Amino acid sequence: MKNDVVIIGSGHAGGMTAISLRQRHYPGSITLIGEENFLPYQRPALSKGFLAGDIEEKRLYLKSEDYFDKNNIHIIRNCKVLAIDRDNKTILFENQKQLSYEKLVIATGSIVNKLKTNSIATDLYYLRTIKDALKIRQKLRNQNKITIIGAGYIGLEIASIAIKKNLEVTVVELENEVMSRVVSSEVSDFFKNKHQSEGVEFKLNTSVTDIEDQGKQKRIICSDGSV
Ligand SMILES: Cc1cc2nc3c(=O)[nH]c(=O)nc-3n(C[C@H](O)[C@H](O)[C@H](O)COP(=O)(O)OP(=O)(O)OC[C@H]3O[C@@H](n4cnc5c(N)ncnc54)[C@H](O)[C@@H]3O)c2cc1C
Repeated sequence: MKNDVVIIGSGHAGGMTAISLRQRHYPGSITLIGEENFLPYQRPALSKGFLAGDIEEKRLYLKSEDYFDKNNIHIIRNCKVLAIDRDNKTILFENQKQLSYEKLVIATGSIVNKLKTNSIATDLYYLRTIKDALKIRQKLRNQNKITIIGAGYIGLEIASIAIKKNLEVTVVELENEVMSRVVSSEVSDFFKNKHQSEGVEFKLNTSVTDIEDQGKQKRIICSDGSV
C-alpha cells in the first residue's frame, strides 16, 4: 500500500506540515515518522519554562494525541529512517522495514554539535530534546555547580535558570562577547552585565579543549590552560 504523504521528522516543521495539510482539507493519508518517542513538540520552552519546571510537558506538544488520531495522521515514533530509495519511492527504517510513499517531506531539523572529549558521558548534557531537558532539570535540583559551554541564547537561558536555583554558574564562550552571532555589542554587554550582576561568571575568548573525569566531578580543560 502506498502512503500519500510521508513526512520524515516529527519536530515542529514535520508536525505543522501534517497539521496544515489537514487544516487545508487534504484528503490523502499522512504518515509522520520521528526518531524521538514524543508527539511533535516545540523546543523553545526546553531552555526556558520547561527547564525551570514552570511548564508541563503536555504544553510543549503542537497538538494532542487525540487530535492526530481524529485527523487520521499516523505517527510512527522511535523510528529512525536510514535511507530513501527515490526510484522505488520507498524509505528504509533502522529496523530494516520499508514504507512506500507518493510524496515525501524531509523535515529532519538539525543536530547537536557534540564535543570530542575524553570524558565518560555521565553528567555531560546536551540540550535538544524533552529527554535532555528532563535530565538537566533534575540535575539543577540536586547539584550546586554547573558549567555551560556556549553563551548563545540557549546557554544564557540555562544560566539564568541555574543562578535562580542558587547554583554556582560558569559560562565558557569561544568568542569575546556573549550572543555575538545574533546581537550587537551593546545588547551583548547588557545581557552579560545582567547575568554577572546575578552572579554568573564568564570565561570569554576561551574554548574547551577537553573534559576529563575527576571522581564524580568534571575537569574542563580550557584553551588558555585554565581548568
Ligand atoms: C533548547 C532549545 C531552545 C530553542 N529556543 C528557541 C527560541 O527561543 N526561538 C526560536 O525561534 N527557536 C528556538 N529553538 C530552535 C527551534 O526549536 C528549531 O528551530 C526548531 O525545532 C526546528 O524545527 P524542525 O522541525 O525543523 O527541526 P527539529 O525540531 O530538529 O525536528 C526534527 C525531528 O526530526 C527527527 N529526525 C531527524 N532525523 C531523522 C531520521 N533519520 N528519521 C526519523 N526522524 C528523524 C529528529 O529526531 C527531530 O525530532 C530552540 C531549540 C532548542 C534545542
